[in-house]
Amino acid sequence: MSNIEQTLSIIKPDAVERNLIDEIKAIFIKNNLNIKEDKKIHLTKEEAAEFYKVHQSKPFYDDLCSYLSSGPIVAMILEGKNAVLFNRQLMGATDPKKAEDKTIRKLYGISIDKNSVHGSDSIENAKKEIDFFFKN
Ligand code: UDP
Ligand code: MG
Repeated sequence: MSNIEQTLSIIKPDAVERNLIDEIKAIFIKNNLNIKEDKKIHLTKEEAAEFYKVHQSKPFYDDLCSYLSSGPIVAMILEGKNAVLFNRQLMGATDPKKAEDKTIRKLYGISIDKNSVHGSDSIENAKKEIDFFFKN
């Protein structure tokens, strides 16, 4: 039984700004998550609000949308075995202070908001998020 999945990863503005794109991509590649597509873009605040609308009732929503649209990001489709959960493990906890050693957020995250990467949290959300960036 194959459990090859696709998930959406984003390298967030704090990491793009610090020239960490290649280092973060290398972690995915080393761990057998193939980068099937990638795209560097700068979202408008409205687009960021649409992407993160699941968080619209949270107190940090407005800051989160401002942040995601504050500079260029890199959106990627990662493909591999158990890609959704495996990418979440490689990323580490939302708060870099709580992330395990060697995870991307532990290595590069600055704070709970500037935590360097996004990763889809379910297969269903991965499909929606991949469509958001790569449909058409
Ligand atoms: N976030 C924040 N403050 C918080 C919680 C989350 O700024 O207290 C930001 C952070 O950038 C996080 C994003 O909102 O990555 C989405 O939150 P979620 O709980 O979905 O975390 P993730 O799935 O990214 O680990
Ligand atoms: Mg999330």
